Amino acid sequence: MSKSLLLCVECGRLCEAASSSPYRQVEAVRRGCEGCGALGLVDPRSPDAALLLHGLDDEQRLARAPAGVRAMARLRATSFFVLAALAVSAICVALYFGKGKGDDVSEVLSLLFAAGIGLPMGMLGMRALRSTWKQSRALPRPARWRLELPVGAERDTHRRRLDPAQVIVSPLSGRPCAAYEIGVRCDDDADAPLGSWLLLEQGFAADERLQLDFPRMTYTPADPALAKAFLDARGISPATLDLHFFETLVPVGAEVSASVSGDGVTILRS
Ligand SMILES: [Zn+2]
Repeated sequence: MSKSLLLCVECGRLCEAASSSPYRQVEAVRRGCEGCGALGLVDPRSPDAALLLHGLDDEQRLARAPAGVRAMARLRATSFFVLAALAVSAICVALYFGKGKGDDVSEVLSLLFAAGIGLPMGMLGMRALRSTWKQSRALPRPARWRLELPVGAERDTHRRRLDPAQVIVSPLSGRPCAAYEIGVRCDDDADAPLGSWLLLEQGFAADERLQLDFPRMTYTPADPALAKAFLDARGISPATLDLHFFETLVPVGAEVSASVSGDGVTILRS
């Protein structure tokens, strides 16, 4: 069974709830986010939070859509702007030269047309272009996340064997491991930037500041009902999205490479 989680609406950080009792709601209101410090965490399973999150996710949908969808949206916005500009220029030229070499009437008509229709059309096109680029721009973090984000140069790289007595269970598949990373996104690009992920979550059996940097493994949930419960607990509404799951596990007692970041996070690699 997955643990109870609270969610920061400001930054999408998932924080472990201290208890799963009815007091969770009180805890949610009082506790600050572990990621950004904002107050007012929400219980992702509550109906109020679901509504709030749906609105927020909708605003950022394009940024986390598959690469092909983002490219098409940009292309559409750009072509709208270019076509509008071309159409207005062509009509102005036709009006100007319509009755021979620019007589007074066609000059006035072409000016009126450019000012009355060309300008608003150009502005609309620019607006569509700007809003598409804004919506599809890279975001700094996944929509939901629970992992260390180390900063600073790495040092002290060494091999290390993980304690075989330390075991944790993946909340998605239930498989035991020393550490896990679960990722959810709309396409299968395992190396995509942080901000394009719907979820990136890491967990460790050891009680240290750790980050997992292993090659990501795709995963097909064996039980769709369990996968849905997993998503519900994180406030992710599958809706009509075709979601891709990744689950990367570090075997219990594995030997790994470890380096320490500038801010003291130990980064584990294979
Ligand atoms: Zn936060």
